[in-house]
Amino acid sequence: MRLQSLRGFRDILPDEAARWQRILDAARAAAEAYGYRQIHLPLVEATELFKRSVGEATDIVAKEMFSFRDRDKTDMSLRPEGTASCVRAGIEHGLLHNQQQRLWYSGPMFRHERPQAGRYRQFHQFGVEAFGMADPACDIEVIAMSAAIWRALGLEGLTLELNTLGSPECRTRYREQLRDFLREHIDALDADARERVETNPLRVLDSKHPDTRAVVADAPRMADSLSAEARAHFEAVCAGLDGLGIAWTHNSNLVRGLDYYTHTVFEWTTDQLGAQGTVCAGGRYDGLVEQLGGGEVAAVGFAMGIERLALLLEQAELPVADSAPQVYLCWQGDDCLPAAQRIGERLRAAGLRTVVNAGGGSFKAQFKRADRSGADWALVLGPDELASDTLQLKSLRQREPQRTLTVDEALAQLGADVAIDPIAV
Ligand code: ATP
Ligand code: MG
Repeated sequence: MRLQSLRGFRDILPDEAARWQRILDAARAAAEAYGYRQIHLPLVEATELFKRSVGEATDIVAKEMFSFRDRDKTDMSLRPEGTASCVRAGIEHGLLHNQQQRLWYSGPMFRHERPQAGRYRQFHQFGVEAFGMADPACDIEVIAMSAAIWRALGLEGLTLELNTLGSPECRTRYREQLRDFLREHIDALDADARERVETNPLRVLDSKHPDTRAVVADAPRMADSLSAEARAHFEAVCAGLDGLGIAWTHNSNLVRGLDYYTHTVFEWTTDQLGAQGTVCAGGRYDGLVEQLGGGEVAAVGFAMGIERLALLLEQAELPVADSAPQVYLCWQGDDCLPAAQRIGERLRAAGLRTVVNAGGGSFKAQFKRADRSGADWALVLGPDELASDTLQLKSLRQREPQRTLTVDEALAQLGADVAIDPIAV
């Protein structure tokens, strides 16, 4: 049997990894700029946690979780998302009681979905969660942060879709109203939607099926059953975004797949990735902490999909920091080995990504390796250089005469060259 990675589980090779790093660096920098601190959470949690937070009627819990029973007969699941764990950890460690928290996390999530471009069974998210702030300021803050990340990455053309689900009371009232309406039109719905009328009627609103969409077009609208308070909250969020010059569109059918959202929900979408157009999604979930056994704690957050963002960076050919070595040190002769290693350490300490040749080979073979490594410069150390405490510096990319330099001169020369690297982040 030939061993291969499992369906939907991918290897991220170095070129793609460089794009990932760019995204994660930009996201982390933005999160820290907004005062968010990192939290690491387990990849595996009690299955019950996701049933009680994401919701049993959602696709994620009903169909997509990797759930199993371990040797101690504990029911557990690979986490399908990060918010539930974050809330669980916040309650468990007393981070949420009478205080504010701004947290960020990143890492793999697992959902048993049908794999396709931009949709995998192991995928990666960067997410933020803010607790203890019920006012629109915090909704605006997390959306502004996501916009700042796109700016930092140079990503253009993303659309911000915004909606409100109102308070839990508005949401419940609306859900019943919508269910009544859908029951009246049950025969015109597709099979999936028909099932959801009873289990999760809000999800019918974001169906992609043309028959269902036709019915939904005439459905009662959430906006019409908002309380004055919920309406004011939403209007303040919209005004805040306007004030920051962040463009948005109102999508009254945006409901999000998870049960726990209230008030503001949003998605950043692109038309560049086919059906997998959502790159970031989030919103307010004021009821979740209490639902999981904590107190009444307001919360808002988002999660972005690293794979989809990496695809966008690739398509737009946006620059990423080069992770290839900058210098390749060629050497020959057992006498030269200690000096080659020492010089290598000095170059690295000076911040130069440096490969010291290993595996022997003629200088010609070593130059070939140097070229393939992506380095711009080769340094050459042979018995003559060793004797005179010098190195040969050779450009691998430009026709320039080879030069004989002391190690200090070589360091100064290479340091100056690297200092003008335009996209080093
Ligand atoms: P979709 O509608 O595309 O299924 P979702 O609503 O299930 O997305 P969320 O649970 O909100 O997604 O997760 C936030 C983000 O994580 C998504 O916007 C997307 O960028 C990314 N994401 C979700 N599921 C996957 C997946 N299976 N593969 C890759 N990225 C994913
Ligand atoms: Mg999904």
